[in-house]
Amino acid sequence: MSLLSIIVPCYNEEQAVPFFYDEVKKVTESMKASDKNLETELVFIDDGSADETLSVIRGLREKDGSVHFVSFSRNFGKEAAIYAGLEHSRGDYTVIMDADLQDPPALLPEMYRAVTEEGYDSAATRRVTRKGEPVIRSFFARRFYRLINKLSKTEIVDGARDYRIMSRKMVDAILSMKEVNRFTKGIYGWVGFKTRWFEYENIERVAGETKWSFWKLLLYSIEGIVAFSTTPLAFAAMLGLLFTLIAFVLIIFIVIRTLVFGDPTSGWPSMVCIFVFIGGIQLFCMGVIGEYLAKAYMETKKRPIYISKEEE
Ligand code: UDP
Ligand code: MG
Repeated sequence: MSLLSIIVPCYNEEQAVPFFYDEVKKVTESMKASDKNLETELVFIDDGSADETLSVIRGLREKDGSVHFVSFSRNFGKEAAIYAGLEHSRGDYTVIMDADLQDPPALLPEMYRAVTEEGYDSAATRRVTRKGEPVIRSFFARRFYRLINKLSKTEIVDGARDYRIMSRKMVDAILSMKEVNRFTKGIYGWVGFKTRWFEYENIERVAGETKWSFWKLLLYSIEGIVAFSTTPLAFAAMLGLLFTLIAFVLIIFIVIRTLVFGDPTSGWPSMVCIFVFIGGIQLFCMGVIGEYLAKAYMETKKRPIYISKEEE
């Protein structure tokens, strides 16, 4: 027998979950019909929803024994939900899917074939268009992927979704990474493994609203850079070095000028500008260092990634 676990992070998805369940059931039933050795389980992670998501999931669990769930004590974020799902999945293969049907279940059979028959450890998806998304958001998203791939040695694929099927080995590798600042897109790249990519056009969510504001995405992108690159620290050091050199040249210039032309007192306005400029750069570099320090501080606390209130 081979077990396929489907992990579904849900945060305020009371409207989407029933649609999701019906769609996924259709696909898994047809997969089971053509492969008698296949079993599936659904693991919903209720990420501290404030609406009726948990009761909807409980309702599904009552009529379908292959449904399981973990309910968080508060909202811990999608990354934590994915971690909890991976921890609770028992499958030989595990797939992560959003509750809003933006990850088309119809792709699942093909993704499953890639890991069972074609020798891949993982099959992942990326959207090639960002149709239906605000233009500014797409623009910054593209800039972000370009930047982070320059800064980090870990490959982070533009447009990659969290919709991905993985072998047990890859799931265990991801679970062995216990960091609290979880940037899953980087973690996938970091653990490696042979991945087949599936591409599709962006699909809009069936119901409910996106949980991502522009501000949240911006903070998330900084988190991603800090988690997978230390280049900004090197950049701060280089900037410091560059300004030391400039200062050195200026000192020599001023000493020579004073010796040759005497010492007329002038140039205060330009002096103030230079002070402010250098002061700004210093604060910026300290901010960069502070960002890393803050992350290191949070990691040393070794707090749990999530707290579950109820599971079944
Ligand atoms: N999600 C979650 N915790 C959060 C935010 C989102 O578990 O704090 C879930 C959400 O319910 C959905 C998935 O993560 O199943 C993707 O969220 P969303 O659709 O809002 O993101 P988008 O598709 O717009 O990137
Ligand atoms: Mg979505």
